[in-house]
Parts: sequence; C-alpha cells; structure tokens
Amino acid sequence: MRLVRLIANLGYGSRKDVAWMFREGRITDPEGDVLYADDKVDHAQIRIDGESLDPPAGIILMMNKPLNVTCSRKDPGRVVYDLLPLRYRQRDPALSTVGRLDRDTSGLLLITDDGALLHRIISPRASVTKVYEATLAQDLRGDEQALFASGTLMLESETTPLLPAKLDVLTPRHVRLSITEGRYHQVRRMFAATGNHVETLERVAIGQLQLTGLQPGEWRQLSAEEIARIF
Ligand code: URA
Repeated sequence: MRLVRLIANLGYGSRKDVAWMFREGRITDPEGDVLYADDKVDHAQIRIDGESLDPPAGIILMMNKPLNVTCSRKDPGRVVYDLLPLRYRQRDPALSTVGRLDRDTSGLLLITDDGALLHRIISPRASVTKVYEATLAQDLRGDEQALFASGTLMLESETTPLLPAKLDVLTPRHVRLSITEGRYHQVRRMFAATGNHVETLERVAIGQLQLTGLQPGEWRQLSAEEIARIF
C-alpha cells in the first residue's frame, strides 16, 4: 500500500493532508531522514513528527465501558467511540464493538477493526463465555441456579430456550452469571423471567480475559497473548 494511503487510513488526515505532511518533511525514518510518498518502507520504520505510527489495521482494544454511553453510533448522546482519540475514530477499516453492552451496563467491551476476529468471538459456534456481575432488587428465590443451568428457560417473545448458563451466588442479591449467548438484554431478561430486577450490571470477563487495570472510560490495546485468552 502506498504510504499516503497507509497513513491516511490510520486517521492522520485525508490523503491530501498526508501528502502535505510529506512535503513539509514531517514524515521520517527512525534516524530522522525525510521519507517520500513513493518510498517503500515498513509501518514500523515510519515516524510522524518523530513519533511512531499508531498500530496497523488488525487491532483489538479492551475498554472499561462506563455507564451512560452507548455502543451504537446511531444512538443519540455519547458513544463509546467518543472515548477514543479522534485518530482512532477516523481509521479505515473502522472500529466496531464486539457485540454490545446496554447504556446502563458497564465493564469489559472489546473494540476491533478485524471483522473476522469479531465474528469469531460473537459466533454462536465459538461459544465464548461472557461473565457478568449483577446486583438484584430482591433476594434470589432459590431455584435460579437450576433454572439457568437447565437449558429450558424461555425468554418472553422468543421461540428457542436459552443455552445452559452458570450462576454463582455471591450474596442473595449479588451474583455472577456466565453465559455463552448474546441475546438482546439477555441478563436483565433472565432475571426478569424469575420475577427479579437487575439494578446494576457489569461485564467482568470474556473467556479467560478479565477486566483488570482499567478505570471506567479507560482502554488499551490487547496483546496477542491476551487475545488468545478470549477463546
Ligand atoms: N445482558 C444485558 O441484559 N445487558 C447487557 O448489556 C449485556 C448482557
């Protein structure tokens, strides 16, 4: 790929902007020698104003999604992409969330520009476990563990029962629920089906990948070793 396109696709500006950056001598190699738009250079050898380039296409970010932001660009108000630097929001291929969390759900959210990886994670066949912690409006009634594990629970207006899910009871109103599907509002609807109400909901893990070290609204790029923990 030509350098102008490569750099423009990383969100540094339009192709015209990037062509100007070349003319201004702002794009160099690690030794500070000016690069030209026609040069053949690896991504790792490019500096802009002395700084390394953002990572190439194929990134996966982990965010601690705060409350009151949504995952859909179509929703009004703040969206998770607004929490990323402007350059990341202008990349091509664009970043997408891996599945969605509700506006009033916080926690581990993955964001990627790698469509194949995204589908691998959300595909029902991959059966990746998503772990949620919830606080409930009322004490558990006692049969939830067995009901959720049974594979017979039918959510309202659905035609196929939920796959078995694992419920760990931390206190009568604080639970950890591990599910392998991603149906609409699934966790809230599972507890609604038992006459309860989810007051707070946080996703704490996807596969073996735990949400650690990030405050709400913070994000970072995952390493290859962390990506492997998802599956
Ligand atoms: N289940 C829900 O009900 N909401 C979420 O955001 C995620 C899972």
